[in-house]
Amino acid sequence: MAGSVLLPKPCLMRLPHYYRRLMKAIHEGQSIISSEELGEEAGVPAAQARKDLSYLGEFGRPGVGYDVYELAAHLEKVLGLNEPKKAILIGVGNLGRALASYPGFARYRLQITAAFDVDPSKIGQRIGSIPVLPLEELETFVRQRAVRMAILAVPAPQAQSIADRLSAAGIRLIWNFAPVSLRVPEGVKVFNEDLAARLATLSF
Ligand code: ATP
Repeated sequence: MAGSVLLPKPCLMRLPHYYRRLMKAIHEGQSIISSEELGEEAGVPAAQARKDLSYLGEFGRPGVGYDVYELAAHLEKVLGLNEPKKAILIGVGNLGRALASYPGFARYRLQITAAFDVDPSKIGQRIGSIPVLPLEELETFVRQRAVRMAILAVPAPQAQSIADRLSAAGIRLIWNFAPVSLRVPEGVKVFNEDLAARLATLSF
């Protein structure tokens, strides 16, 4: 079901914010929520929130609001939040380590099954329950475990060659934390997370 609704990208990016607000409502025992409240969480006006949610189908009643449970369940389906997702991590430096240790991914059922590195002092270690494996085992691991998602946290100069290997091995989604634009074959998607560039826009 995840990805089966075609949405404009800005709308897609706002759905997790609506979902987060819905989780808060559930936590607080609220059963109906307004588009104002949802929009506020995503930083958009109520009309925009209503428009975004109208892409998902007929939800909400004018003058009343949205049923919190119904909308949350639907967002879970659209975003695939209930489907377990396996990922691998490449690069166990400071950032990679932080990502591997972040407990928030479990909420979205993302499980990092292994990490890979070239540094002999890191290979063989564990980050929580995640083993750090030698990079030579990358392709075999991806093929045998049918992993489709990779988190890339290697230095920029190494990122492209790793992306090539990941794509050839069958990875279809790369969440790229290296500050570099990656070229990937058709059928592979890249989501860039350039933290330093983001900081620059924040400062501005
Ligand atoms: P540290 O000092 O622990 O290495 P760091 O955050 O400064 O941390 P970076 O230089 O950003 O490290 O490198 C990130 C990680 O990527 C390191 O663990 C490094 O060993 C690893 N790495 C470097 N080249 C590759 C590669 N080709 N494939 C996999 N991992 C790599």
